[in-house]
Amino acid sequence: MALMTNGTQEKPSILIVDDVPKNLQVLINILKEEDYRVAVASSGPQAITMVKENKPDLILLDIIMPDMDGYDVCRELKASPDSKDIPIIFLTAKAETENVVDAFREGAVDYVTKPFNSIELLSRVKTHIAVKQSRDTIMRMNEKLKEEVEERIRVAEELEKKNAVLDRMAVTDGLTRLYNHRHIIERLTHEIAEATRYKFELSIIMLDIDHFKRINDNFGHQVGDEVLVKVSEAITDLLRQVDLVGRYGGEEFLVIIPHTDREGSIITAERIRQEVEAIKFDNNDIKVTISGGVCTLDKEDCSELIMKADNLMYKSKQKGRNRIEHTMED
Ligand code: GH3
Ligand code: MG
Ligand code: MG
Repeated sequence: MALMTNGTQEKPSILIVDDVPKNLQVLINILKEEDYRVAVASSGPQAITMVKENKPDLILLDIIMPDMDGYDVCRELKASPDSKDIPIIFLTAKAETENVVDAFREGAVDYVTKPFNSIELLSRVKTHIAVKQSRDTIMRMNEKLKEEVEERIRVAEELEKKNAVLDRMAVTDGLTRLYNHRHIIERLTHEIAEATRYKFELSIIMLDIDHFKRINDNFGHQVGDEVLVKVSEAITDLLRQVDLVGRYGGEEFLVIIPHTDREGSIITAERIRQEVEAIKFDNNDIKVTISGGVCTLDKEDCSELIMKADNLMYKSKQKGRNRIEHTMED
């Protein structure tokens, strides 16, 4: 039984193609013994039209026919992706046995000779229908397998994306989207090791929003949060791709600028200060400034370097805020 695309079992269908009505009748009679659905065509063109309309499971094809012979029909059916997999058994007269080679060359799976021996004919028909059905089943299973593999790939890709989001979440601060405290310290430790090993310059900037408490007190915590986001964006906008910035504390930011000497880092810090000062808020009463300390790696470890930048930042606060300090001497 052929398995329909909707999953139901159906009797196998056979198309007989012969221009001699008597031959057709003989074949119909033989095939009647088995549970087949049989259709007939009395010419090549008719056979091709019928196959296009309704694909049979097997074709019994006469060789010698007027207009279009069996080889032409076979060639045309084999050339079309829709019909190329339908098994074709050629019907040959004894005298035409030498034509069998040509039949196989055109893509026939088998041949039966006239006059037909019903047992032989039925046995060949049965075999090739079984082969065709097995192949159809394998193709269907392959298709299903392909779909399953594609689905698995899709799920894996989705998982990868979700993991990337989780990875990103693990290292970022939820409010500002900057690196979180733990991660920026990890990155600084790594950058210090690289700078020491490859002998390149490394500078850091510690920044702290001035009188931030007043913003919370005067405008509310939510406005305070918005200020933190805008200041973070202003800092990020000014930095290069290789620079790193993290939310070190509530309203404190740590900027790592690799491959940058003292002079370059002072310029960057000063630009950040100016950029923050220039931020426009919806509420015109809000003015935000930032104080900072800049230092360049000498021989310090991570916490020593941070402490140095922190001390310079506090010096900025003491000297009136909204400024950048880079040296403790004076
Ligand atoms: P200074 O110029 O000396 O730095 O003064 P300041 O007011 O900025 O410093 P202080 O350390 O006294 O206050 C910092 C405030 O930042 C206190 C805290 O409530 C607030 N803060 C910390 N994290 C957040 C946050 O995520 N959102 C908001 N809205 N406020 C925060
Ligand atoms: Mg502050
Ligand atoms: Mg602070």
